[in-house]
Amino acid sequence: KPVVIPRDQHSISRKNLSPAAVKTLYRLQDCGFDAYLIGGGVRDVLLGLSPKDFDIATNAKPEDVKQVFGSQCQIIGRRFRLAHVRWGREVIEVATFRANHADGDDQSARTNADGRILRDNVWGSIEEDAARRDFTINAVYYRIADFSLWDFANGAADLKQRVIRLIGDPETRYREDPVRMLRAVRFAAKLNFTIAPATAKPIPALAHLLEEMSSHRLYDECQKLFASGHAAPLLPLMQGYGLFAPLFPGPAEHPCEQLWLKTAQSTDARLAEGKHINPAFFFAALLWGDVQARAQALINDGVPPVPAWQQAGTHAVSRQLARTAIPKHVSQVMRDIWEMQMRLESPRPRQVEIMATNERFRAGYDFLLMRESVGEATGKMAAWWTRWQAADPGLQAEMQRALA
Ligand code: ATP
Ligand code: MG
Repeated sequence: KPVVIPRDQHSISRKNLSPAAVKTLYRLQDCGFDAYLIGGGVRDVLLGLSPKDFDIATNAKPEDVKQVFGSQCQIIGRRFRLAHVRWGREVIEVATFRANHADGDDQSARTNADGRILRDNVWGSIEEDAARRDFTINAVYYRIADFSLWDFANGAADLKQRVIRLIGDPETRYREDPVRMLRAVRFAAKLNFTIAPATAKPIPALAHLLEEMSSHRLYDECQKLFASGHAAPLLPLMQGYGLFAPLFPGPAEHPCEQLWLKTAQSTDARLAEGKHINPAFFFAALLWGDVQARAQALINDGVPPVPAWQQAGTHAVSRQLARTAIPKHVSQVMRDIWEMQMRLESPRPRQVEIMATNERFRAGYDFLLMRESVGEATGKMAAWWTRWQAADPGLQAEMQRALA
């Protein structure tokens, strides 16, 4: 019973879609399957934005998709099995229609005692597939067979009214998958939508459910939060709904709001310019207050500053790891950034050149600039390093002599 919006009554044309997505849709159709574009690829185009990726829903089973696309296709995921179809550098996600038979004793679908979905691989009809999607605006299907939109949950109306609304009973849907709470605030910040009252209401009381989620999945979700291009409005939204402390317990105890906001703004600005962002930098800023407090406590106990900062970094990272599985190569950069702060604040004259050629210098210096810009006491050394980098060798030597 979807509302069908014919091709001449909506703004999606094959021109706004990635050629890879269009080719995938056609190839599935040519092989006799139903194929629809779904999710962000439809939502964002309807809003006049450019989608960050394209997701396809189909009645083809993952093995069928593999058969159709051969070596271009890789089947991934256990909890949620789907096919990745690769076209050069672009990957299109192809998911089989699913049904919500979460309480069956079948191995392909399982929930735990809290109602959380542990496995979600029971195939179903398109109607069933629509019912188990998260938000109404994410359940609009673009049908390649006739270019119409199939709107199962009134998503088109919510797109017009700019509302994030869960499909079904909100509390049940959050218990099935607590990450939906993070998705609600992420989409609200990214699209500048409001969250419907009934969708918003259960969040504060259920936010603690995030504590039991897989730390790997939460790390992935954090990446999406920080890289949404709208991290600045997202942080206060997360705090307001009580979603921040369950993810970041140490930072919640030792906040440095100004630094977070500045980091979020600069991350958003870099993304808007199409620049690369380093996940370590954001995490380094989030945990900075925590690391500082720990280092200070150790120094007060008589531990010398260098080991104090190292231990503080180790402890702060290991507590955070329990919530978000930060990969080793990322946490190493975070610790380098922290440890460099002390040395950048009081460089030895002869070590200046060596420090400036260190591969982490840029990140450490950027971090120092950020701290200085929010009024932290850094002896104005960020400004010193800025001048030093721009100076000719004669002036550099003079500046270094003046440090002594
Ligand atoms: P974007 O890719 O811009 O982050 P998206 O809406 O495409 O946004 P994806 O994570 O790519 O999000 O997921 C694609 C679609 O799958 C969603 O639009 C939604 O319909 C469905 N979906 C994703 N995650 C969930 C979830 N946790 N619960 C229910 N449905 C989900
Ligand atoms: Mg997507």
